[in-house]
Amino acid sequence: MLAQEIVQRVQLGQRSPREVVEDYLKRIEQLEPQIHAFIRLNPKALHEAQTVEERLARGESLPLAGVPVAVKDNICTQGLETTCGSKMLASFVPPYSATVIEKLRKAGAIVIAKANMDEFAMGSSTEYSAFGPTRNPWDLERVPGGTSGGSAAAVAADMVPVALGTDTGGSVRQPAALCGVYGFKPTYGRISRFGVVATASSLDQVGTLARSVADLALLSDVVSGYDPKDSTSLEAQPQFGQALEAPVKGMTVGIVKEALAVGNSPGVLAALERFRTVMEGQGVRFVEVGIPTLEHALAAYYIVNTAEISSNLARYDGTLYGLRVPAEDSVTTMMQSREHGFGPEVQRRVLMGTFVLSSGYYDAYYGKALRARAKLKADMDAAFAQADLLLTPTSPFPAFRFGEKTTDPLSMYLADIDTVAVNLTGAPALSIPAGFEGKLPVGLQLIGKPLHDEQLFSLAHAFEQATERAFARVASSA
Ligand code: GLN
Repeated sequence: MLAQEIVQRVQLGQRSPREVVEDYLKRIEQLEPQIHAFIRLNPKALHEAQTVEERLARGESLPLAGVPVAVKDNICTQGLETTCGSKMLASFVPPYSATVIEKLRKAGAIVIAKANMDEFAMGSSTEYSAFGPTRNPWDLERVPGGTSGGSAAAVAADMVPVALGTDTGGSVRQPAALCGVYGFKPTYGRISRFGVVATASSLDQVGTLARSVADLALLSDVVSGYDPKDSTSLEAQPQFGQALEAPVKGMTVGIVKEALAVGNSPGVLAALERFRTVMEGQGVRFVEVGIPTLEHALAAYYIVNTAEISSNLARYDGTLYGLRVPAEDSVTTMMQSREHGFGPEVQRRVLMGTFVLSSGYYDAYYGKALRARAKLKADMDAAFAQADLLLTPTSPFPAFRFGEKTTDPLSMYLADIDTVAVNLTGAPALSIPAGFEGKLPVGLQLIGKPLHDEQLFSLAHAFEQATERAFARVASSA
């Protein structure tokens, strides 16, 4: 069911939050053995549904009344394990909840499960989870994308109507595209990062996933907004729901030519063409724009990303919390804890990040990457002088097979070619389900000017309506 329908039924008294959660738990029991979208179910979900029922009875108005939500396992939930998909935090129970969790609860949502993810949000396929991979509900032989692969697969299979993920370089948008759902990464600062385990702090944002634009807006409105506990939080008022019906006639969309030159698969190109034809019919104008620095975005991203990872992950030292493998002295304890606690991709990033920050190489790598980041931002601003929004594929190809990219880390990094620029510049972006290649979903990415996130919802909604919701269906094998 869609979240909107659940809220409506609950508010009309046709279904109680407890019944909704029971229905979803049944569906999860049926599908989870094949899909493995979750690391853990919330054992208190039914109890929490009961509390929502009592609040409704007291007359509280709850915008997400009774809506079950899956939350990526790097978002802290008080009293409920938060593992980051890592052995390092396998038994970590946070003493407090992230701001987004507080906001969900306040709105009457129920956190039903913690979703699977690539370890510490590094990867593009959810194969790097220490708890085993998630399968794509459209084809169980293929990956769901990553790193929020559990969240995307759960929404695609309707094991939950909506979910939260995080997006450091595409981790909400790319799995959304590969699983045929909507995925939104807001302007940096519009959703609080308080209580979200850091991967690369200047790039990290919480994002939302849903099977309709209205549901995406509903959830995004609830979790966004200023938070004094996050020093990078912005004052902007979320108005995503209101943006749905805004007219799109007269908007200009810039098709980014560099994103077309990277060898996109036929289904992706067909979806772009269709989007253009459908939206031209709605009075949207299309122009071609260039972002010359885009070809350096991936290289700059993997330097900034690993540099920040090497600093952020220094806290896992086997002393205060997380895995501890005791040894004769503290240095050996630290080395052993990190060696056993972190998987190969995390170790690779920590090593790379330490290297690019080391004194002899700082300017050659990190300094240069920061200059590329500034130039990319200037190029994007120039593109936005010609267009209200930009359009690219979300991923050059649909879901790939298990093991296809794990043996070659560079080929895995290339999966992020369309998504990382947005994180480097802080812009908002939304991946929309826009077609199929064979039975596999294909996504397109709309990019907005910073703080103009609402326009993405207007355009996505207009396309969804014009195509009569043809592309965001519950996954065929679910
Ligand atoms: N795939 C990208 C990476 O591995 C993005 C990850 C993310 O957004 N968390 O860094």
